[in-house]
Parts: sequence; structure tokens; C-alpha cells
Amino acid sequence: MRILISTDIEGVAGVVHPEQTRAGNAEYERARRWMTREANAAICGAFDGGATEVRVNDSHGTYRNLLADELDPRARLVNGKPRTLGMMGGLEADCAGVMLVGFHARAQARGVLAHTINSSAFARVWLNGQEFGEAGLYGALAGEMGVPVVFASGDDVFAEETRPLFPHCVFAVTKQAAGRHSAVSLSPQATCEAIRAGARQAMAVLGAAAPLRLELPVCARLQAQTPAHADLFCQWPALERVDGVTLEFSAASVEHAVRMLNCLSAMAAALN
Ligand SMILES: [Zn+2]
Repeated sequence: MRILISTDIEGVAGVVHPEQTRAGNAEYERARRWMTREANAAICGAFDGGATEVRVNDSHGTYRNLLADELDPRARLVNGKPRTLGMMGGLEADCAGVMLVGFHARAQARGVLAHTINSSAFARVWLNGQEFGEAGLYGALAGEMGVPVVFASGDDVFAEETRPLFPHCVFAVTKQAAGRHSAVSLSPQATCEAIRAGARQAMAVLGAAAPLRLELPVCARLQAQTPAHADLFCQWPALERVDGVTLEFSAASVEHAVRMLNCLSAMAAALN
């Protein structure tokens, strides 16, 4: 039974500031170690619960954050970018379930370091009229491939907004958001214990959990961060300008919608 663990850093216990999420400083070097330990806790929980193969993908920023030499040697590491499935890299293999570790709330929410894919590109994203953050977008991508999300960890705002999407999913809350850059956090050790227990428990719901499926084709709508971003994005003929900051496009699948968003995210760097 193969499990994919997707890891981000903003939802990791103790992480509250952008400096902790960006390479080039001591704070980040410490936070990426906490991220690796939370990944290890989920790996242990998956194996405790009966997994036979675990892939862990690095899904933050450059996709090069997890410390390979500190990772549980039973797991395989999926890292580096670009890659076609983004935060679901590694799902190409036949997986029974997905676990989301260190995830965060969607853009405009009150969660710690909340954003959707790229905070300097997108203010909001909807698929078929429903607003999604990264967990929803990538959970729907996994769902399209028949794979359910069975475990997720992050702050309380993330858990609250994500729970309705995945009714059988087991959550581990790492911290209570007190603001965008402020939280009341569990210790890294207590968090890892909760993640390991939750991931183990999640293995038992694999049979009952239903994949999140959206109607196709997907109508994707996005609110760009500024009108200048919308000017740039609508150079792509597939996108239709709705107003100063809002754009729409149709996608044959959730995968294509997510890949388009990731292309636009990369394009946004042209305005930096
Ligand atoms: Zn991230």
C-alpha cells in the first residue's frame, strides 16, 4: 500500500514568519529541520498503520527544503522543480492515499502565512465557483486520479477551512493562529507525536475516504494580486479578462487548471 506525503513549511509548528520559510538565514535552517521531523513523523505513522511504500514530496518554494540525510530512510524523497504535478509530485505512482503535512490556510484567510500558490500573484482562486487554497486545489487533483486525502496538519484556520472538503480526513493542529505572523504553537516534539498518531489513524480510514472530484471541464477563476498582474496573465489567449483583477479560463481537468496556475505563478516573476 503506497502513500504520498506532501510537505509544506508554513503550517509547521513554530513557523510564523516569512524569514523562517526562505533560504539564506539561520531561522530557515532551523525551520527546515522541524519540517523534516514533521515529515518523518508522518512517515512513521503511515508505516505504523500498514503502508508498504511511502513517498514524501517537498512542496515548498524551491521544492528543496527537506534534509535528505535526516529523512526516515524507509521513504523515498521527491524534490526539485519544475515538475508536472507540483505539490502532488510522486502521485504518478499508484497511491492509496495522500497526507498533507505543514500546510496553511488559503489566501485572504486569517491563518499563519496564508496564501494560495504564490502570494505575489494570486489574491483568490476558484474552481467551478468554489474558492480553494492549496489543499483544495491539490486535493482535487489527487481526487481526479482517484486518490483521497486522508491526513492533514497545519494551523487551526487551515484545519477549519479544509475539513469540509475531506470528510474522512484526520487532522493534526500544530498551532492556533493569532495573526498572519503570530501563533500559539505546540512544541515540535508534541506536534510530531500528534502527527505520527494521526497518520497512523488515517491509514484506517483509507477504505472509507472518498476522493474529492470536481465536474469537468473545470471553470477556473482567479483574482490577480494587482491589475498589472492581470494585464500580464491575460496575454495568454486562453484567459479571459472579467474585470481589472479577475480572469477566467476553462480547463479539461483539475490537473490542467493547476498546471495553468503554476505557469501564471512563474510568469508573475516578470513583474518583480
Ligand atoms: Zn510553502
